[in-house]
Amino acid sequence: MNDAVLRARIVVTARRMNETGINQGSSGNVSARVAGGFFVTPSGIPYEELEDADVVHVAMNGHATGRRAPSSEWRLHRDLYAKRPDAAAVVHTHSPYATTLACLGRGIPAFHYEVAFAGGSDIRCAPYRTFGTQELSDAACAAIEGRRACLLGQHGVVALGADLDDALRLASKVEALARLYWQALQVGEPRILDEEEMARVVERFRHYGPRGGKPRR
Ligand SMILES: [Zn+2]
Repeated sequence: MNDAVLRARIVVTARRMNETGINQGSSGNVSARVAGGFFVTPSGIPYEELEDADVVHVAMNGHATGRRAPSSEWRLHRDLYAKRPDAAAVVHTHSPYATTLACLGRGIPAFHYEVAFAGGSDIRCAPYRTFGTQELSDAACAAIEGRRACLLGQHGVVALGADLDDALRLASKVEALARLYWQALQVGEPRILDEEEMARVVERFRHYGPRGGKPRR
């Protein structure tokens, strides 16, 4: 995929994030890996006003190139690409239900088997750190270890994927699971599936589904 196509896809993904209700305004950000770095959405521009040329290139040493400043969370994206060879795209949102749980410092346990979409038996919540800092990136990288998504305390969600569609799909799935978990908690305390069962589901997703995507039937 050439750079022009990738820039356009980042813009489309950022807009879809808001159109589908998993993000609001100019919060959240989207990136995709390229050789030696990544493209990322710029800081503080409403996505409906975003043009392909506003997308910023950031090298792995943090050097940014473009007519805009990169997202304030560029360190988070940089560190995920450095540490996670499976990440070709990263979507960060402030989706309402997942962020509600994150505001309570709660991750998503195995209350439903689809939690395994994120790669393990739970979706962890990183402790709160100031936005845009190395400390936030470090906390997120620890919480997402062995997973493809995590919550960020008092902040939002981060999801990675094999491409932009995959990362957006996972971010949407995390929001749907957070909503179900929140709903279940209104009625009672949901039963949590055990580690053995979740390991079986993770294995089935690995075998049947494209990297934790929608399982084939
Ligand atoms: Zn954020």
